[in-house]
Order: sequence, then C-alpha cells, then structure tokens
Amino acid sequence: MSATLIKGTVIRDQIIEEIKADVEKIKAEHGVVPGLVTILVGEDPASISYVTAKIKTAKDLGFKEVQDSQPATISEDELLALVDKYNRDDSINGILVQLPLPKGIDDKKVLNAIDPDKDVDGFHPVNVGRLMIGGDEVKFPPCTPAGIQEMIVRAGVETSGAEVVVVGRSNIVGKPIANMMLQKGAKANATVTVVHTRTKDLAFHCKRADILIVAAGVPGLVKPEWIKPGACVIDVGVNRVGEKISEKTGKKVAILKGDVDFEEAKEIAGFITPVPGGVGPMTITMLMRNTLNSLKFKLGIA
Ligand code: NAD
Repeated sequence: MSATLIKGTVIRDQIIEEIKADVEKIKAEHGVVPGLVTILVGEDPASISYVTAKIKTAKDLGFKEVQDSQPATISEDELLALVDKYNRDDSINGILVQLPLPKGIDDKKVLNAIDPDKDVDGFHPVNVGRLMIGGDEVKFPPCTPAGIQEMIVRAGVETSGAEVVVVGRSNIVGKPIANMMLQKGAKANATVTVVHTRTKDLAFHCKRADILIVAAGVPGLVKPEWIKPGACVIDVGVNRVGEKISEKTGKKVAILKGDVDFEEAKEIAGFITPVPGGVGPMTITMLMRNTLNSLKFKLGIA
C-alpha cells in the first residue's frame, strides 16, 4: 500500500489564500497592511535568491514590502542603527536580516537587536523562551517547524498521545519542533523523543514513532525498515546529491534528496512528505503568516 503524500505545495496554497483573505479584511477594517522588511548585506547569490523569493511572496499577498540592500562594507554599528530604524517604524511588522553577514559583524548581536515583537523568524531569545512556555505566550513559532506542524495537522494525523520522534537537535528545526509537539494544547500533546548523533540506537527509536520528523541533513539516513507501518513521516532534509538537466528549462539543476529513502518508505508509511515539494514550500509561507500575526497582535485582533 502506498502512503498518502503530504504535499507542501498544496498546503502552502491553502494557507496563502487564508492570509490573502485576512489581509483584505484588515485593510478594509483598519486601513493597514502587514509590513515586512528584508535587510540584505552584500551580494551572496544564495542570499539574494532567498530574499527575492520572500519579497515576491510578500508583494503577491498585498503586504508592504521593503528590500533594504546594503553593501558588504557596512559597519556593525550602521547595521544596528538600521535595525533600530525599522524597530521604530510603525508601518513595519516584521524584520528579517538575511544571514550570513560579512566577517567582522556579530550576527548574534544584530539578530538580538531586532524588536522581539517584530522578530517574525522567531529566533530571538525572547521568542525562543515564549515558545518554550507555550500557549498564549507564543508569538512567532520559527517558520520551518511551524510549517511541519501545520502539515501534520492538515493531513489529519492525530498528534494527541502520539509518539513523536525527532531526528536532529538543531536550533532551527529539531529543538523547536520537539518543543512545539510536546506542548499542552491543540496540534500537539505528543510524547516526544529527540535523537541525534550521540544516540545509541537510532533504529530503535525511529521504529516506535507514530510521527517521525527527520531533520539531519544526511541523505537516506532513515532506513525503510525503521519506519512503523502506517506512521507519518516528515522528511525535512534537503540534500544535493548531484546535478541534472531540467526538462523544463534545459538548465543544470541540483538533484535533491531527503533524509529518508522515499521510494521504499512510501510503501510502509501511512503519510509521507516528498523532497522536493514537501516541507520546503512551507517555510516562506509561515514567515508571511508570522508577519500577518505580528500586525494582528499590534491591532489586538490576534
Ligand atoms: P543541522 O546540521 O544544524 O542539524 C542536524 C542535526 O541532525 C544535528 O542536531 C545532528 O545531531 C543530527 N544528525 C546529523 N547526522 C546524524 C546522524 N547520522 N544520526 C543522528 N542524528 C544526526 O541541520 P538543520 O539546519 O536542522 O537542517 C537539517 C536538514 O533540514 C538539512 O538537510 C537542511 O537543508 C534541511 N532544512 C530544510 C528546511 C526547509 O525545507 N525549509 C529548513 C531548514 C532545514
């Protein structure tokens, strides 16, 4: 039997429609739209493409969007002053500083200078603390984990009482998603295990998982025989394993693989995300939802 595919592209489109409807309503009732600024320092091609994608999505949603590009020669003090300017700008609800920053600039210092109430990436220590407390405290769940949780819930997978096993303990995926799934409340209430490079028996833990979330960055790490029949498998890994010529564009593109052997795993799992087209498309969408929510918090309508 083949698993149900949880397509990030489909869920993304649903959430985008929900955000659009909210933006229209807020605009009509309050005369404002969410404002997002992306600060890009230097000309790193990957950073330019990430920022361009974020700005395009914000524009399509009817947000106010500002792309503030700065030369790689900007000083730390100048960058901190720029962040402060947007902290005080009433029309801006979300501030993103694209990483990496040039050598000589302390990225932690810059990220921590963002007003926690505009930190739509959810990485400021204040927001990490709010996430840990859970419930009404949470303002901006980090985007990739928020996307993962949304995919599980919208696929109709029961989280309450489920055994969730998270492979990976990074600050951007593993730790926050583990924390979110164990909270008391809707979309969570799970029993969570986090496994990592020092775990003695990875297979033992994975085999117990009703929901297996894999974010290791190791292609094919999770073997098909580690998957519990009927489990929900969320493959966060995006690994470049080679190159091919795109049939659409005729250009060279990367061959991407997840951390799970998809072809075999889909015959055992009940639900599974593909790579690409799984978790990937969710991240920017959740960033937009956080920016919308930032405005809603400000207006007292969240
Ligand atoms: P990371 O390298 O910061 O963390 C990986 C974690 O996996 C570490 O905690 C490590 O302990 C664990 N790990 C690595 N090898 C392991 C092994 N052999 N056995 C057990 N545990 C192991 O990576 P990250 O930033 O969390 O990203 C993980 C993967 O998810 C990457 O492939 C990344 O590209 C992908 N990712 C995708 C999205 C998205 O689709 N939007 C977003 C973020 C990350």
